[in-house]
Formats: sequence, structure tokens, C-alpha cells
Amino acid sequence: MNLKLAPNFHIKELVPESIFDQFSANEPFLVALFDDKALITLQALREQFGSTYVNTWHLGNDIGMHFRGYRPLHCNVGARCSYHKLGMAFDCNFTKVSAEEARQYILKNPQQFPHITAMEGQVSWLHFDVRPADWDGIRVFNP
Ligand SMILES: [Zn+2]
Repeated sequence: MNLKLAPNFHIKELVPESIFDQFSANEPFLVALFDDKALITLQALREQFGSTYVNTWHLGNDIGMHFRGYRPLHCNVGARCSYHKLGMAFDCNFTKVSAEEARQYILKNPQQFPHITAMEGQVSWLHFDVRPADWDGIRVFNP
């Protein structure tokens, strides 16, 4: 089964290995961990910027990343109230553009990514999320 809203991705790229191992027999359940707006946006980024990486654990190397998509509620990686824990955030890197180039493009073309409400600035990956916001447009948070 494919991710209908993000057809260029496999669920393995979006969840940690432990979660995949526990629930892989029920892929629709895993897909339902994500907010539709986050998946639609991930696909829109893939269409704009080309090859897009989230997790890499499935590639079988020891430093593979696990927590750039969905994070379990008790995960110690990142902020306690991270929107990754609600399936509303992704951390991505692109083959063809840097994270900073992607952020600048998104800020100049927000109509192309109407669900993004927040991004992290000054980091070497693109963190975006689709959190419910009481502001208009995209807010950039600097760590
Ligand atoms: Zn993030």
C-alpha cells in the first residue's frame, strides 16, 4: 500500500524502526498517525525540490535517522511538546537544494505550501509543521 497523499514516500521513511516493526502489519494505522496537511505538504516539497529525505534507518546503516517524522509521545528527542509527536511535522533534507535555500523559497512562495504554519530557522534541515496557529502565514522559530 502506498501513502496516498505522499506517493513518493514509503511509511518506513516517516516512522521510527521500533514503531514500524510493531505495526507494519497494519500500514493504514501507521499512515493515520499523520495529519493529512503534513503529508500533502511533504509531497509538495518533493515536487518542488526533488529527492527528499526524512528518516534513513531503513537504509541499514548505524547512524540512520529515526525521529525526523513521527515521534512517539514519550520520545526524548527534541522538544517535549514537539508537533512531530502529533504527526504534524517533518524534518527533511533535499539532494538539490540546501535547507536554507528551501526555507527562502517557501517564504517567498507561501501560496505553494498553504498548510505550513511554522518552520525552524538556522538549522541544516528543513523543519516544517502544520500546527494550528493564531497567526497568519509562516512563523520562523530560531533555536
Ligand atoms: Zn523537526
